[in-house]
Amino acid sequence: MANSVTHIILVIFLLDLFRHYVFGKEKFPRYLVVVGGIAGLGPDIDVPLTWIYQFFTSSTTDLHGLFTHSIFFVLLFLIIAALFHSRNSMKWAKIFYVISAGWFIHLILDCLYGGYKTFFWPLQYASSFCPQWGIQGHAVEIDAIILVLWLIHEEVHQKIKDYF
Ligand SMILES: [Zn+2]
Repeated sequence: MANSVTHIILVIFLLDLFRHYVFGKEKFPRYLVVVGGIAGLGPDIDVPLTWIYQFFTSSTTDLHGLFTHSIFFVLLFLIIAALFHSRNSMKWAKIFYVISAGWFIHLILDCLYGGYKTFFWPLQYASSFCPQWGIQGHAVEIDAIILVLWLIHEEVHQKIKDYF
C-alpha cells in the first residue's frame, strides 16, 4: 500500500488540476482540495481503528485492509453527494463528491502498489486484478516525483501564493 503522503499529495494534485482546468476557482473553492486530500487518506482510518480495537479487546486482529478499502464506501459517498445534488445543496454535494473521489484514488493507488483482497467488501469476491509491479519499493521516490510535478505546475501558473 502507498505511503500516507502519496495518498494526500496525489489527490491534492489531481483536484488542483481539475480546479484549474475544468471547474474554475469559483465553482471549486480551495477547501474542496483540502477535503479531498484528507479523504485521500480516509480508507487508512482502519489503522488507528486497529489500535483502538486491539487496545480494548487485547486481540491481535489487524483491521487494515479489511473493509474500509472497499468500493462500497466510494459508492456510498457518491450516493450521498447525489442526494445533496438533487436537493440543490451544492456545497455539500461537492464536499461528498470530492470525498468519494479521494477515497477512490486511495483504492486505485493501493491496488497499483500491490493490491489487497477486499475491494468489493462486504461481498466476498477476491480481487486479484491488482498488478504486482513491485513499485512499493519506490514509494519514497514516487512521493518526491508527485510533489515536484505539483510544485512545477503551481510555479508555472504562478499560483503558489494563491494556495496559501
Ligand atoms: Zn490504504
